[in-house]
Amino acid sequence: MRVSTLKSLTLFFVEVVGYREIFWYIVTYKNVQGKTPRERSIICGQNLARRMDNKQFQGKKALVTGAGKGIGRETAKRLAQLGTHVVALSRTQEDLDSLKFEIPSIEIVQCELQDWDCTRRKVQEIGAVDFLVNNAGVNKLDRFLDVKKEDLDCIMNVNFKAVFNVAQVVAAGMVDRKCGGAIVNVSSTASMRGLEEHAVYCASKAAVDKLTHVMALELGKHKIRVNSVNPTVALTELGRMAWSDPAKADPMLARIPMGRFLEVSEIVDAIVFLLSDQASMIHGVNLPVEGGLLTS
Ligand code: NAP
Repeated sequence: MRVSTLKSLTLFFVEVVGYREIFWYIVTYKNVQGKTPRERSIICGQNLARRMDNKQFQGKKALVTGAGKGIGRETAKRLAQLGTHVVALSRTQEDLDSLKFEIPSIEIVQCELQDWDCTRRKVQEIGAVDFLVNNAGVNKLDRFLDVKKEDLDCIMNVNFKAVFNVAQVVAAGMVDRKCGGAIVNVSSTASMRGLEEHAVYCASKAAVDKLTHVMALELGKHKIRVNSVNPTVALTELGRMAWSDPAKADPMLARIPMGRFLEVSEIVDAIVFLLSDQASMIHGVNLPVEGGLLTS
């Protein structure tokens, strides 16, 4: 074959397949060397999944609230790794600075979500958003009879009213732009089961679940999918506050058929799945991520 023909064919191949695909062919080729057929098929499948994931998340913009710590922080990082432009919104500036240091492409916005008007302004300034993860949340343990009004206000403000507020601004933008989108509200299994000393937390998450249903009902026609994830315990700062004491943790663990609490990454997996095209007909769902807790 003549050199010029070979060059034309190579250029044609690059044009049709794209540099990114060629990169993945090389990665896959190198990974499968010396592997058994079974290992090869697993590696090919994994690389295919990574390519598909990357493609659908690239060029999109995601807003993640409560992204300074815990589940929100890991969600922001995962989405950024998938090629999404992530806006991380949270309260503590140092957390946001350290996130930015870790992944410089992430845009950070400091915001106190209890401030309704300021939150609206800051979310409006963020502009067009394709994916919203309403994750920020707080808790304070108290017996029902002892709950103080300021704690009731604070938990409802962050866990419910801020979800409402942020989603209203973001969804209005999605409707105006006629581009659709996906919203995941981070709820909890506490919305579905009563937990001692969690009166306000349980009520706030039940409100999030029902809000998710109504948002799904009204926003579906605008191609905006809305779901919640409902995890059981993960030992983040919030989780440790409620579940570090073995006297509380052990009975809870005994009710989880899988016999353990969650890894944060397992919640992030569910969030990313609900945002993805793989969940294109999953809408209005409160998705438990709980190792079978709700069956017990
Ligand atoms: P976390 O580690 O305590 O992180 C919560 C994040 O939300 C922090 O970055 C926090 O910022 C931010 N935040 C809280 N109040 C805020 C406010 N008023 N304005 C702005 N940002 C605020 O908690 P997590 O465990 O990751 O929880 C994340 C979500 O998952 C919550 O909705 C929670 O209810 C839900 N969830 C958690 C568990 C669990 O076991 N961990 C289980 C089920 C559901 P600051 O630290 O600066 O306040």
